[in-house]
Amino acid sequence: METTGTLYVVATPIGNLEDISARAIAALKQVDLIAAEDTRHSKRLLQHFAVSTPLTSYHDFSSDADVQKLLDDLSAGRSIALISDAGTPLISDPGFRLVEKARACGIAVIPVPGASAVIAALSVAGIPSDRFFFEGFLPAKSTQRCKRLAVLAHESSTVVFYESPHRIAACLADMAAVIAEPNKRKVFVARELTKKFETHFLGSLLEAVAWVASDDNNSRGEFVLVLEGRLEQPDSELDTAMEKAKEVAELLSAELSMKRAVALAAQIVGVRKNALYAVMLEKQG
Ligand code: SAM
Repeated sequence: METTGTLYVVATPIGNLEDISARAIAALKQVDLIAAEDTRHSKRLLQHFAVSTPLTSYHDFSSDADVQKLLDDLSAGRSIALISDAGTPLISDPGFRLVEKARACGIAVIPVPGASAVIAALSVAGIPSDRFFFEGFLPAKSTQRCKRLAVLAHESSTVVFYESPHRIAACLADMAAVIAEPNKRKVFVARELTKKFETHFLGSLLEAVAWVASDDNNSRGEFVLVLEGRLEQPDSELDTAMEKAKEVAELLSAELSMKRAVALAAQIVGVRKNALYAVMLEKQG
């Protein structure tokens, strides 16, 4: 009877080769096959670590037949490591189709975690990291990008974006145009993380626009943008939001406990749970 192989999802460095883990090297050496986004690119990395495992290509445009071939290999008991050009596969990188299908076939999918630019940037930004929303790449066209930014402008969690050197200036300019109080809303620009020309900038959106324009080098390389969540609303807006949250909580409390109704209403309307709880208690006398 055949036992199925394992699909290892292996993170590789985002710049500095020393960021690869010992476990990642061991997994890459031990598997039967490495499925890489770009085999030519990965060959250099694998040579550096003396990994001689056979390589095959897997990317977003791989045909269904190619994906099926990998699944057949796994089902036949061969182990495969999935890698992307840099960082963690599936994080703005190929891999989802293969992982989804492998799971559906009952194949074990095991992470070998390591570098990811989103986490590296968040860990040094100095912007709240307790709750964050990962947006990845915004649309390339300004009209579409502004539409998406108009939605994200209301997000109270920190928002993390990936951006390319060609669009970094335009993207920051759109953020400053669409998001309220760009002179106050903070953004962290992480350029070339873990590499020779690593640069960090932390300031308001308007300051970031000026910083990128101040030196051509500031728009070269790879970027992560960490945007501070929506700032506290002015009192008048907050009062209106609290009124609305109170109404929602009252409706919900017909069906749910007060605690649950308040928690849900606060989440739906976007007010602080404790503040809404206090308002509801006051109302009850
Ligand atoms: N899977 C990768 C990860 O886990 O971070 C991301 C792949 S995505 C195709 C590439 C984007 O990630 C770049 O355009 C950039 O926005 C970001 N990125 C990757 N490496 C970076 C680095 N060293 N410094 C800053 N941003 C980086």
